[in-house]
Amino acid sequence: MRLQPRSVRGRLTFWYTLVLSLMLLAFGTSVFAVMKRVLNGRSDLFLLDALAAFSNELAAEAAEIRDFDRAVTMAARDVHFGDIDFAFRDSNGQWTSVPSDGGPVHDGMVTTSVDLTRLDPILASEAEQSSDELLATLVDPTGEFRVAWLPRTLAGRELTIVGLQSRLFLQQTLRTAILIFLIAVPIAVIVACFAGYMLARGALSPIVEMSRRARIITAARLDDRLPLRATRDEIGELTVIINDLLGRLEASFAQQRRFVADASHELRTPVSIIRAETDIALARHRTESELRDALLVVDDASGRLSRIVEDLFLLARADAGRQPLRHEELYLNEVVGDAVRGMRGPAALHDIRIDADALPEATVHGDPELIGRLLLNLLDNAIKYSPAGSTVTVRMKHRAGAWEVVVADNGPGIPADAQPHIFDRFYRVDIARSRGERGRTSGAGLGLSIATWIAESHGGSLELVRSGAEGSVFRFTIPTDARDPVGAQSGDERASSALR
Ligand code: ADP
Repeated sequence: MRLQPRSVRGRLTFWYTLVLSLMLLAFGTSVFAVMKRVLNGRSDLFLLDALAAFSNELAAEAAEIRDFDRAVTMAARDVHFGDIDFAFRDSNGQWTSVPSDGGPVHDGMVTTSVDLTRLDPILASEAEQSSDELLATLVDPTGEFRVAWLPRTLAGRELTIVGLQSRLFLQQTLRTAILIFLIAVPIAVIVACFAGYMLARGALSPIVEMSRRARIITAARLDDRLPLRATRDEIGELTVIINDLLGRLEASFAQQRRFVADASHELRTPVSIIRAETDIALARHRTESELRDALLVVDDASGRLSRIVEDLFLLARADAGRQPLRHEELYLNEVVGDAVRGMRGPAALHDIRIDADALPEATVHGDPELIGRLLLNLLDNAIKYSPAGSTVTVRMKHRAGAWEVVVADNGPGIPADAQPHIFDRFYRVDIARSRGERGRTSGAGLGLSIATWIAESHGGSLELVRSGAEGSVFRFTIPTDARDPVGAQSGDERASSALR
């Protein structure tokens, strides 16, 4: 059986009420126990004092008056206490009660209607125990009594003087206290339960409102936000955090949509070219050289298509954190040298020289193939945008625990407003500025975003140092101690950085 309510409001109220009830119960019980103890102690003291006062008075009267009965009456008249009765027993075991308003009565019954002979066994047992206190409780059919006694010898008689106090008043007082407790506690608990529920309801109402609003926010309505609260309490903070999360989700969804749109756009161009060329080639009889030209165009377009698909595949795997990264010790200067050698031919075609002399020996850890790809992309861009007769410079430098590879060209530079976007996917500044011929990279605006992902997944970075009329300078940094490039960043972090 489920005891706890399902809602937080209900649970809060339940626990609050339960704890409060237990506390009240513990508090009430201990107050009652203390009160009972104190009341008992005080009334015992009072009884002992009263008995001492009466016996002293009786001793004084007996010394003065010969008639002992009269001395008893006198003492009873002078010393009397509301609910205390006195009696005494002589050495023959004969009981005499002392009513406060008259003389002694010899029939063994006192005004309290207690059969005094019932005290005999109590007095006998206490005497055996030789107790100092000489106090006991008598449970009589007429009620409960507290008994105090005192052995005295008065006027040659050996007496046991007894004081009897009904416990009725004390019991009534305690009973009243219990009654008040039994009435007050449930009322207090009910009020506290209600107040607690209202309090929890009030405190949690913004969350209820938030969940109502959050329920209607769908992928199609990600621009919606939760209502902001004026107070900056925990719930206000939560609202801000959820709104931030929604903002990031919205941006990521928008990015995904843009990515899909851009990707299909990029794929459409080569596919259209292939279709158009094949349609024309098949439409009528073509000479062999015409067919060859058409096939060259198809080859170029399909090559571009496969590079775009390859790049998209790599980015998709990188986003999912599933792109495998080799992790081996490598000579960075050799990887740079290989990339430079690979690009010297295409550069020479446009009368561009690559200056990469004196590369210092540098060992790093990483994936040589991916780092090579990054460098090829930088060199390809540099050559693509450099004027004929110019030089692309490649330099390596060790700084602050990292190796830097700087690639500088004398191209037209990147416009200032485009510079923050060149690392974004599918971003191209101006297609007309490049020569547009086949290069190692796709030319679909994916090269730099893939290069950035490669750099960051190695714990390094790729940045545009400067770009202007005198050319552009890119810098790739890789830490020398990046022993675990894959572990340096989680898949999600890599994906988010590559998602830019
Ligand atoms: P692509 O693969 O189309 O070259 P990239 O991501 O490599 O795309 O580059 C993005 C854009 O940045 C390019 O379209 C180009 O305009 C600009 N860019 C990159 N490198 C250079 C450079 N060295 N000089 C001038 N512009 C550059």
